[in-house]
Amino acid sequence: MSDCLFCKIRDGLIPAKVVYRDDVCVAFEDINPQAPTHLLFIPHKHIPTVNDITTEDQALVGHLFTSAAKVARERGHADANNGYRVVMNTHAHAGQTVFHIHLHLLAGRPLGWPPG
Ligand code: 5GP
Ligand code: ZN
Repeated sequence: MSDCLFCKIRDGLIPAKVVYRDDVCVAFEDINPQAPTHLLFIPHKHIPTVNDITTEDQALVGHLFTSAAKVARERGHADANNGYRVVMNTHAHAGQTVFHIHLHLLAGRPLGWPPG
C-alpha cells in the first residue's frame, strides 16, 4: 500500500534501523523503544491487522515468530533466566497505531503482566 508507513520502511523509502531481512520479513528497531530491545518484525506482504490474516498467510505468520525467536536467541534473550515477549496489537483497545501487522519483540528487562 502506497500510504503505509511500514511498506515505506520495507522499501527503504523511510529510514529505519533494520536488524534482519529475508524474503518474507523485515525487522527494525522501534522508534520509541519500550525495552532495551524493542524490534518490529513485519511481513513484506501488506496485511492491515490480525483480522486480515488468511489461511494462505499461515507460513508467513509462523515465519515472523521463528525469525523473532532467532534474533532473540542471537541477542542472548532466549535463556530461561531472562526471556522476551512477542505481541501483535489489534485495533483501538490494544493500541494499534500502524495498520501493517508487526510482531513486537520486547526484551532486556523484566516485563510486567498483564500489560496496561
Ligand atoms: P502498534 O501500537 O501499532 O502495535 O505499534 C506501532 C509501533 O511502531 C510503535 O511501537 C511505534 O513506536 C512504532 N513506530 C511508529 N512510527 C515509526 C517509525 O516511523 N519508525 C519506526 N522504526 N517505528 C515506528
Ligand atoms: Zn504496509
